[in-house]
Amino acid sequence: MQAMEQVDCDLVVVGGGGAGLRAAIAAAEQDPGLRVALVSKVVPMRSHTVAAEGGAAGVAREDDSLDGHFNDTVTGGDWLCDQDVVERFVAECTAEMVQLEQWGCPWSRQEDGRIHVRFFGGMTTQRSWYAADKTGFHMLHTLFQTSLRYPGIQRYDEYFCADLLVDDGAVCGVLALEIASGEPVCFTAPAVVLATGGAGRVYGQNTNAGIVTGEGMAMAHAHGVALRDMEFVQWHPTTLPGSGILITEGCRGEGGVLTNRDGRRYLQDYGLGPTEPWPRPKAMELGPRDRLSQAFWYEDQAGRTIATAQGSAVQLDLRHLGEARILERLPMITEVARRYAGVDPVCTPIPVRPAVHYTMGGIPTDARGAAPLDGLFAAGECASTGIHGANRLGSNSLAELLVFGRAAGQAAAEHARSAKRRRQGVLERLAGEALAPRLELLRNERGERLAVLRGELHRIMEQGVGIFRNEQGLDEACRALAALRERLAGGIRLDDRSRTYNTEWLTAMEFQASLQVAETMAWSARARRESRGAHVRNDAYDQRDDERFLVHTLAHPGDGSGPVIEHVPVTITRSTPRRRAYGAEGEGSA
Ligand SMILES: Cc1cc2nc3c(=O)[nH]c(=O)nc-3n(C[C@H](O)[C@H](O)[C@H](O)COP(=O)(O)OP(=O)(O)OC[C@H]3O[C@@H](n4cnc5c(N)ncnc54)[C@H](O)[C@@H]3O)c2cc1C
Repeated sequence: MQAMEQVDCDLVVVGGGGAGLRAAIAAAEQDPGLRVALVSKVVPMRSHTVAAEGGAAGVAREDDSLDGHFNDTVTGGDWLCDQDVVERFVAECTAEMVQLEQWGCPWSRQEDGRIHVRFFGGMTTQRSWYAADKTGFHMLHTLFQTSLRYPGIQRYDEYFCADLLVDDGAVCGVLALEIASGEPVCFTAPAVVLATGGAGRVYGQNTNAGIVTGEGMAMAHAHGVALRDMEFVQWHPTTLPGSGILITEGCRGEGGVLTNRDGRRYLQDYGLGPTEPWPRPKAMELGPRDRLSQAFWYEDQAGRTIATAQGSAVQLDLRHLGEARILERLPMITEVARRYAGVDPVCTPIPVRPAVHYTMGGIPTDARGAAPLDGLFAAGECASTGIHGANRLGSNSLAELLVFGRAAGQAAAEHARSAKRRRQGVLERLAGEALAPRLELLRNERGERLAVLRGELHRIMEQGVGIFRNEQGLDEACRALAALRERLAGGIRLDDRSRTYNTEWLTAMEFQASLQVAETMAWSARARRESRGAHVRNDAYDQRDDERFLVHTLAHPGDGSGPVIEHVPVTITRSTPRRRAYGAEGEGSA
């Protein structure tokens, strides 16, 4: 067998999105001599971060406070946040935004030159920094440009990471495939940062880019790392029916309203209103995403939605904002609505419905980004730092990429300097073992079509692990996912057996990861016999149960018959759980 190409470095960062770039920059800044390999299956600017529209949170106004950001985040997360980590997060966000500004990020500004911040769901004040409605694009571009200044960062664009190399309980590299040639490359390093993004593509209807398929989570899980809080999947309430294209919360932050078939602002019927007059709205359209998505579900059940060719929808009305403001603040949304929904938001409401948007859970880390596997770090959407709890507030994720991307980069750089390297023979053996099943997949002549298996995964997840869940549906979903795993073990039949730019092969590997992640979601959801944040049940467990479930879920890999679930304590420092109330419901935030 021909020798595999090997790249020896000090740190491998998997992922060129916001978290991966921020981690690589932090590592290179800390130690310019460090050899950092930045490995990504797409060129960094195509990472999903580029699609973020609305904003990134950080206290900016005189009338705002770190306490305010802390309280909104913990309330929004239905008290499942680790409060010590939230404290660190809110304290560091603003400095990161300013740092990004100094690197060239064109934040939108007020007429007097001060930073503009907008409302976002669940935030009690204007706190979300933005660059029109292309915030993710500008942030990613700024980070990408900045990363070019560091010669220590070597980029490997369009390399697909297939597995971690783990020896004796410690990470020592990754196995990747160069996409153009299909040739394996072994990256060796004593520290690896996973920044591979979320797993929204586990569901059919979602806002995520096609590449958001969960490999980072699956790779860690395959090496024994229990994934945390995977039952908490966020539906975004306003996406285009059919395509799932996101219509940013920034629209509602600017004053957009949601109406049902009868033209009624129906959120007032779900304890989220009535609203106070603009510019100090209380909840309603600016309630948290979980509550808005659930309200849609009820409206749909009651037949008060409108029918579109791509399914039922409600209406997002921006008309009262006026053309000038719509075009200034929401130029991309205007274009998207015109092009993909065939409506001009200046004169017609946009039809919208919920779709899967974000995975709150992931690889558990401490506040430095360290995962429970020696040498492994994680940041961004693939990580579960503990700041989002049961429901992430919009605009906290982009901020998270910066705060915890930097932390993970720094901690991994430190680790890389002190950790010992593996012997060449060990590395070669591990890489060979990791490659074998991937080649087997390519050569396999039996098995089912990928599209059939994927369709089945989407059906199971939408039916059994949707916006509302129940015991029977979750039981069925767990069983069906196990059956799908059996079918997958029988092989996937690929049409393309070449190595050269074989996207079918890559998609098959992505699917394997997605299914693994899906099982952790379904099993974690079944074990949480209560309703909290984005995990809502319409059976006997329709209430929050702090006595039994004020705990994180850990989904361990198990012995082949599905994940093994464990519950572990949540860190509470100063906010005692109370009823999560919005708008007309009285106390509480937003
Ligand atoms: C449409 C949309 C709008 C959003 N808007 C906002 C917003 O306004 N505010 C906010 O706070 N949040 C928003 N979010 C959420 C936020 O954008 C994401 O959580 C965040 O950008 C994820 O960043 P990341 O760096 O973790 O991952 P990503 O940006 O998804 O990057 C993942 C990287 O990992 C690489 N990768 C993955 N798997 C592999 C593999 N197997 N091998 C090699 N490389 C791999 C990819 O190539 C990519 O470079 C939005 C999300 C979506 C989908």
